[in-house]
Parts: sequence; C-alpha cells; structure tokens
Amino acid sequence: MAGFLIKTFGCQFNELYSATIADALRRGGHQPSDSLGEASLVIINTCAVREKAEEKAFSFLGEAAKLVGASRIVFMGCTATLDRQRAVRIAGRGLNVVEGTAGMEQVLTLVGTVVSLGQVDCTAPRSLFPTADIELIRGCESYCTYCIVPKSRGPEVVVDAGEVLHRAERAIESGFSELLFLGQNINRYRSSLGGLVETMSAVDELDGNFWFWFLSSHPANFTPEELRRVMELRHIEHRLHLPLQSGSDRILERMNRRYTIADYARLVEPIRENADWTLTTDIIVGFPGETDDDFAVTVDAVRGFRFDGVFLAKYSDRPDTPASRMQDKVPPALIDERHSALLSIVQGLSGQSNQVLVGRCVDVLVLAAHAGGNAFGRSIDGRNVWFSCSEPAPGVGTFVNVTIDHGSREGLYGTRVC
Ligand code: SAM
Ligand code: SF4
Repeated sequence: MAGFLIKTFGCQFNELYSATIADALRRGGHQPSDSLGEASLVIINTCAVREKAEEKAFSFLGEAAKLVGASRIVFMGCTATLDRQRAVRIAGRGLNVVEGTAGMEQVLTLVGTVVSLGQVDCTAPRSLFPTADIELIRGCESYCTYCIVPKSRGPEVVVDAGEVLHRAERAIESGFSELLFLGQNINRYRSSLGGLVETMSAVDELDGNFWFWFLSSHPANFTPEELRRVMELRHIEHRLHLPLQSGSDRILERMNRRYTIADYARLVEPIRENADWTLTTDIIVGFPGETDDDFAVTVDAVRGFRFDGVFLAKYSDRPDTPASRMQDKVPPALIDERHSALLSIVQGLSGQSNQVLVGRCVDVLVLAAHAGGNAFGRSIDGRNVWFSCSEPAPGVGTFVNVTIDHGSREGLYGTRVC
C-alpha cells in the first residue's frame, strides 16, 4: 500500500480538508509517511494569503516532483487555483490540480482517482481529535482590498444549519470535546435557523460535555448585542478572535473593512468588561499608504484594547487585488522596522495577560499527555497550558482543572488539581 504525505500551508480550512483526506486514506489502508523519499502519494494543500507561503508551496512541489513524479502528486488549495500553469511547469503535465474553490466532495473524488480511498464519513476528521472542525461558510465575499481569498476561494457557499447541527451532534456522540465552526467572515452566516447567533444557540442546546467556538468574526457584520447573546451561551469558550487589521480609520477605509476604530471599541466593550474572556486579533503592518501617524495609532489601539494575542503580518502584495494597484507602497525596510517594534509590544501584552492568571485555577481541555506526568492543553479562554499531573495521565479530550504557577508570553504553566 502507498505511503502518503500531506503538506499543509495556511488556514484552519486547509487543516480541515487535509485531515479529512488523511482519514479517508487511512480507511483505504494507506499509511502516513514523514519523508518524501518514502511517499508514493503527496498532497500539497496550499495558501496564497501571503507571497511567502506561496513560494514555499512551489518549492516543496519542485522537491516532490523530483522524487515522486507528477502523476502521484495532488496540488490543491488557493495557489492551485491562482497559478495552475506555474505548478504544471514545475511538476510536469501529469500533475493533479484541485482548485481552491472545490468542496471536500470534489477533492476526495480527485484523490480517489489517484489511489483507492476508504468510505467517506461526514463526521469530523479523527486526526483533529479532540477538536471537530465544522464548515459553516466556504469562500468569501467581503472583498478586503489586500486579500486574495475572494478570488482564490470564490463566492460564499453556506452549509445549512440542519446539516451543521447534524455534524455537531455526531461529533459529540463520537467523543469529540470541542467544536470549531469555520467561515472566513462567519458573521455573514444566514441559514434555515437565522444567523450565526441563532445557529450557535441551537448548538448550545445539544446534549453532552463539550466546548465550542468559531472563526473568524468580522467587526463590520457583528453587533455588541449579538456578541452579548453569544457570551451567555453555556458551552461557548471564553474567547473572541476579531481581526482589527489597523488602528487607523484612514487605512481601514482603504482596506474596505467597513468599520471605524470607534465601532470596533463599541463592539469589544462586553469582552473588555469581562475579565474571564480573552480578545485576540490580526494586524497587517505596512499596508500601502501607512504613514508614521497611521502606525502610531495602530500601536495605541493594540495597547488600548489590551489584546491577549495578536497575529502580526507584514503586508504582502497579492496579484490583481485593489491594494496591489495602490501606488504608495511602504518600503520593505520600513515594514520590517514597524513589524519588529509592534512585535515586542504584542509579546509584552501576551506575557502580562498570562501572568494575571498566576495563582488561579483554570478549566483546561487536554490535548496531549506524556508519560512521566507532563501534559498539554488549552484553557477555556484559549491559552496554551503546560501542566504536571500524577498518574494515571488524563485522557486526550478530557477536561481538567489546573492551578497556574507561572505565566509567560507563550502560555501558562501549572499543576493539575482534579
Ligand atoms: N477571514 C479571516 C479574517 O478576515 O480575519 C481570515 C482570513 S486571512 C486568510 C487571515 C489574515 O491574513 C487576515 O486577517 C490578514 O491579517 C492576513 N492577510 C490577508 N491578506 C494579507 C496580505 N495581502 N498581506 C498580509 N496579510 C494578509
Ligand atoms: Fe480576506 Fe477579508 Fe474575506 Fe478575511 S474577510 S478572507 S481578510 S476578504
């Protein structure tokens, strides 16, 4: 039987698709392999959000083509849609290309033409256990001016709430402890039960011991009232990821984000008033036209909102996006300078946020447990937790209480109490 290797770049959607393929391959009797030299099937699941990720995927494709041959490679995801010709030039004519807009069913059909697959199961992939990723919306129609996703993933396709609830129920019944609902702008979700809040409220009514959360929220399509309703749900994790992108209203407008800093501040008020919740964000440094003043107000905003975690990205020109046609690009050296200045602020904030929990007892979902009494998990508000515990070690997917002895910018360290 063929050994298969899956290389995944990019977002949670790609993680979900790769894990679903891996499960179907395992059910078909194929074994995962860590080395290109040993694999007879290679799947490269690509990301085009930044140029660097794209270049890494092409370079991996080149290596794979030398060792495995084009007909045994599946090249999928955003870069596969955007630059099929370059991929074929690198690997050769026999390369199997699946467009980024394809749904899981089409991806599995194509992989099935290369090797035999096991039965497809619509429960969440086992390899992501104990987290069940569940798609609510595929694609994006928010058209941020810097972003390639609307082009590479295509228009929004919504999964009906009935199907979402069915998948959630099956995942809980099969022992998953955490549900993660996905959409590029999940607040645009509309289906038979209403919007996101109504659907999440229905999930909250399901029986079982589980936590859930969702990614990614968009400030222009979320209201403080809706957020308050979500925060009252019994099973919701105490964390919100709400990309801000810039602290400058002028830059937000050029990004077509459709909110101001004042709107964002009103929206996150319920979170910042509640010490049990964390707030994380995405920021792009060096968007075209970003002046020293724009950058300074972004720094102020990051400090002012006291983000518990920030994903910082250097602006990357994406082909044919409106931002790529803007003339006033920020020089790369200045982007680097601003990025490292903001990075040290962000790291300081994460450290402070984690130190606040020293001495407290937190609810933790166990993600890994090792012999010798060391385990790793995630707290209900989304922090990494490394902890010691006596034998027998807690099972992956169980919930434990951990007393925190120490906090760093990476997370929390403590001891299991029960
Ligand atoms: N839909 C989600 C959202 O809007 O937050 C996530 C989508 S995007 C794949 C994830 C993050 O990548 C964005 O929030 C943004 O910060 C970053 N990003 C997208 N395009 C970028 C670009 N051209 N340059 C740098 N960062 C970019
Ligand atoms: Fe890209 Fe904006 Fe859509 Fe997120 S919401 S995927 S940043 S266009």
